[in-house]
Amino acid sequence: MQPLPQGQGGTDNLVDVVCPLCGSEISRHLYSVRDNAFQVTDATFGVRRCSRCGCGFLSPRPREDDMQLYYPKAYYWSYEGSGGELSWEELIAKRRGQLAAKARWLEDMKPGRLLDIGAMKGEFLWTSRQAGWDVEGVELKNSVPNPLSLPIRYGDFLAMDFDPSGYDCVTMWAVLEHIYAPAKFVERVASLLRPGGRFIATVTNFNSVQGGLFRQDDYPRHLTLFTKKSIRHLCARYGLVVARMETDQTIFGGALNGGLVFTTKRLFGYTASEAFAEWKQTTDPELFCCSWRGHPSPSMRTISRADRVITLPIETLFDRLGLGFNLTFSAARPLP
Ligand SMILES: [Zn+2]
Repeated sequence: MQPLPQGQGGTDNLVDVVCPLCGSEISRHLYSVRDNAFQVTDATFGVRRCSRCGCGFLSPRPREDDMQLYYPKAYYWSYEGSGGELSWEELIAKRRGQLAAKARWLEDMKPGRLLDIGAMKGEFLWTSRQAGWDVEGVELKNSVPNPLSLPIRYGDFLAMDFDPSGYDCVTMWAVLEHIYAPAKFVERVASLLRPGGRFIATVTNFNSVQGGLFRQDDYPRHLTLFTKKSIRHLCARYGLVVARMETDQTIFGGALNGGLVFTTKRLFGYTASEAFAEWKQTTDPELFCCSWRGHPSPSMRTISRADRVITLPIETLFDRLGLGFNLTFSAARPLP
């Protein structure tokens, strides 16, 4: 791991922040984390819980101007896997289950105008257009390909002008937790919704077993760690009423798999940071699940198989209890 050069997001450029949702200056340090997934830096960040609203947030964290440095090219292709760039057909086939799960959140709505923020390559826009929606997208980076030339604008959502006639639905799939000042985003979304329109978003659940015990959030790219209570407060502040909120792993996949391997490694000598470093890295899946300190291990392979078998029923149970990792909500702008 190479630290970023001085002045480009290295350890000297971390900043402490107050709660990004309610502004409270009182919070409690829970644990320290590192960029295990992409290893852009070896800096240590802190996870804190706000004493007033209960949400979690990263502090110290990178400065806002430095955040782009923590998104290497591999980040945008990590879902596609190590095989690299896929054709559109392959991409849609790989995301079929995820796209269907997203679409289910809109199925009780009459198709109208839809804005997807964090549109990536346009996969959800394409799916929604098939269902009759008039679609537009926003994506921060213009280096993300747009293979079907879908109507996606590139840049900062907060700096863009939109048609004042508004939208019937605004979606943000796994975006809000990456935003430096998420309240401003929600305020802007609320202003773009037509009366009766919906804001539908997926975030990670700070009160989940996977988030708290197994630190499944992607640090330092996840900056705000939401709870159901903080979502309700945030939406209410901008006149939105949360109509539905549930944890469900069908959109972004299970986050519990690996917990048994992690626990075994911790019980038999790994430190937490050693085990997390193996688990979260994305270059060699075998290193965590099938090896012991870098050497192939049949015992770990067996435990990993057992892990996969027990994960699904446990994850389903957590979701029933509202304790799953991916938290999706639908909030409406009330009719006058
Ligand atoms: Zn707070």
